[in-house]
Amino acid sequence: MPSPTLRDLVGSAASQLPFVYAFGTKNNVLGMFLGIGYEKLHFMHRHSARIVLVAANVHSLGYIYKWCLADNFMESIAKPKCYWGLIGLICIDGLFLFSTEFFRKKAYNLFLATHICALTVLIIAMLYHYQGTIPWAYACATLYLLDILQRVLKTRVSTATIRTIPELGITRVEIPNINSGWRAGQHVRLRVISSGMGLIGWSEIHPFTIASVANSPEGLVLFCKKAGDWTNKLYDMANVSGLENNDRKVSVMVQGPYGGLGNFMISSFSAAVFVCGGSGITLATSAMQELIQQDMDGQSRVKSIELIWTVQDASALVPLLPLFTSMIQQSVFTSVRISVFYTRAPTGKFPFPDGFFRSTSLTLSPGRPKIQQHIEDTISRTVDSISGPKSGNMCGLFVGVCGPVSLADGVFKDAGKIDPFRRDQIGGVELHAETFGW
Ligand SMILES: Cc1cc2nc3c(=O)[nH]c(=O)nc-3n(C[C@H](O)[C@H](O)[C@H](O)COP(=O)(O)OP(=O)(O)OC[C@H]3O[C@@H](n4cnc5c(N)ncnc54)[C@H](O)[C@@H]3O)c2cc1C
Repeated sequence: MPSPTLRDLVGSAASQLPFVYAFGTKNNVLGMFLGIGYEKLHFMHRHSARIVLVAANVHSLGYIYKWCLADNFMESIAKPKCYWGLIGLICIDGLFLFSTEFFRKKAYNLFLATHICALTVLIIAMLYHYQGTIPWAYACATLYLLDILQRVLKTRVSTATIRTIPELGITRVEIPNINSGWRAGQHVRLRVISSGMGLIGWSEIHPFTIASVANSPEGLVLFCKKAGDWTNKLYDMANVSGLENNDRKVSVMVQGPYGGLGNFMISSFSAAVFVCGGSGITLATSAMQELIQQDMDGQSRVKSIELIWTVQDASALVPLLPLFTSMIQQSVFTSVRISVFYTRAPTGKFPFPDGFFRSTSLTLSPGRPKIQQHIEDTISRTVDSISGPKSGNMCGLFVGVCGPVSLADGVFKDAGKIDPFRRDQIGGVELHAETFGW
């Protein structure tokens, strides 16, 4: 078999590029067919991009080396097809540099801007560099434009009420005009059109998991935790005193929904456990309300729902207490248990009077939860509740995690340690993680 030439390598790089574009777009065709959200396919975007990076660099450096040996570098690079090749290479290497974790974490806007500019210029460079890459360039352009079109079609402009939840350092964004069209666990991308967000801030778009259930009077609710510049500005805007009910109205653009639980139907499991950290409670609030609604309509098999929520401060429970209490009271056929853990020693007056947590359905404890034990307890309760002739009909346990990556890693490890007997008893354990980043 003949060894690949330098020219073959440009073909290898170009032929991978449609995959890089397809896996990187928010509305990607592959995700649609696989039933998986774009954020779960990002690893494929990165892997295919690395192949392009290596192939394009070996191809270009090979030619540069050849021209240098022949002492005609300047002559060669002056040819349009060669300088377009060099422009393409700069785009690819620039993309790699600004996509590193450092830039993604420290300068997200720079990462985003370089992505948009370089990926657009790269398509033009491919068109002028080499005849053979033209079909691939068209494929990339088509995927990119289709994504932009779908983003426009999926965008709604509305008015939101923003309110701070100081105990959690969160801005609650409520959009009553949008109250259907999503499933629990999905997220939207939010743009706040207000001068209060600053010169660049109003043009930025940020992802947030939907915290409410569809068809509720409050509409679409988001919990936006203060994490950096944009979320801090949103919090400051909402934190204006003197307004009626302490609410402020702002114009927003909501794009989505995206992602979510994919092929999982939580209502088809026998039990569900949600493990959340801080603002990751959004997955549980939407999924639990959806499950309770389905249960009341006779459309759910779930017999036990358990929520384990870890927060820094015990007072974080105060704003969510009405919602938690109503979920426990509403769930007539399914047992709901909510265990809240706080990790910081309380300073000042404890926010709850002695004896407040008498019911076993809602508990507040210091320290970190023992996830494995909670999961095994839920299995026991579920198995006990479905005793008798129907006990063979166990449909498995769903474990949903939402929060930082370290929390998800810990839960995956703990779930792996579950007693195999217990796991078989419930019909298997399936995990789903929503982490706030990629
Ligand atoms: C799928 C998904 C769902 C999320 N759901 C929630 C939620 O329900 N509640 C919540 O409080 N937070 C959520 N986040 C995180 C939230 O999007 C970021 O905290 C927010 O965008 C930070 O913006 P900033 O400018 O204030 O902070 P920055 O200081 O700019 O960034 C802080 C961190 O957020 C990341 N980030 C910044 N901008 C974006 C962006 N446009 N897109 C993706 N990541 C970004 C950065 O990489 C960095 O790691 C979610 C993130 C993702 C990816």
